[in-house]
Amino acid sequence: MTDDNCKPSSAPVFRRGPIRAPTDKATEEHILDIRNWTKRLLSFRVTRPAAFRFQPGQFARLGIASEKGGMIWRAYSMVSASYDEYLEFFSIIVPDGAFTTRLARFVPDDPLHVEKQPYGYLTTSRFVGGQDLWMLASGTGIAPFLSILRDPEVWERFDNLVLAYSVREAGDLAYRKEIAALARDELFAPNGHKLRFAPIITREHVPGMLDRRLTELLMDGKLEKFVSLPLDTERARILVCGNPQMLDDMRGVLTGRGLRPDRSREPGHFAFENYW
Ligand SMILES: Cc1cc2nc3c(=O)[nH]c(=O)nc-3n(C[C@H](O)[C@H](O)[C@H](O)COP(=O)(O)OP(=O)(O)OC[C@H]3O[C@@H](n4cnc5c(N)ncnc54)[C@H](O)[C@@H]3O)c2cc1C
Repeated sequence: MTDDNCKPSSAPVFRRGPIRAPTDKATEEHILDIRNWTKRLLSFRVTRPAAFRFQPGQFARLGIASEKGGMIWRAYSMVSASYDEYLEFFSIIVPDGAFTTRLARFVPDDPLHVEKQPYGYLTTSRFVGGQDLWMLASGTGIAPFLSILRDPEVWERFDNLVLAYSVREAGDLAYRKEIAALARDELFAPNGHKLRFAPIITREHVPGMLDRRLTELLMDGKLEKFVSLPLDTERARILVCGNPQMLDDMRGVLTGRGLRPDRSREPGHFAFENYW
């Protein structure tokens, strides 16, 4: 692998043995469909490797062949449900980004490599107990929560599901219709109103939406007021995904409220996924 941005904590344990070429660990798949949300945001669907299984909230490592030879690998959270026949991802296009400038030129049928193994621990199965699941996302950090919300077990396990999704401009708020449809779907919401959605636009004021930083909204109680649910230390389990600054600030806010990080030897309240 020539390029790697996965966090060491998410890395799998490799057994000693001969170094294998990336192709042993990955399969060549094909782009099925591309959906452009804005000039800088797109979703894409890929054929699913037959043996690829994952837990909602996990990520895949995707590879694009570089013109110089070799592969460029990047981590991408699955947006699709664990039972969908395809894999769907949601991506930012980073100006001059090695992976995403190539991705932006993709058309259906283009090849994309997918590592055979999924990664990551931003899953609900990691938590002990909890009745309210809080999912806090900035930007493309919404991706794993869309997969989690498509899991009927999550709707059965938790009494309340809170999704806070923060973007800069209203046009960046992707998947709004899908989120609204999930809240109405009889399969997922048999008792109705379980999903409490808080859209946040930080650089514009849009009626009916919050307009401050996620951390500020938690500090001054406005998020809880908006979703009509207190963030209760006993009941809440919190997943946070997005940019490193938001995660750092959020860690301070949550620990300041008496919540603890969830660790394998010490069950707690929250877990983070850092995108860069
Ligand atoms: C566990 C994990 C899961 C990830 N899942 C996703 C995902 O579902 N969707 C997604 O778009 N990205 C995701 N990323 C980031 C992704 O792996 C790439 O970094 C990103 O797509 C840009 O790739 P690049 O080669 O074009 O630029 P890079 O060289 O990788 O990044 C250049 C710079 O772009 C910025 N950047 C990177 N990713 C983002 C982002 N998502 N939003 C805003 N700015 C960013 C950062 O400033 C970074 O330093 C994930 C990263 C990790 C570690």
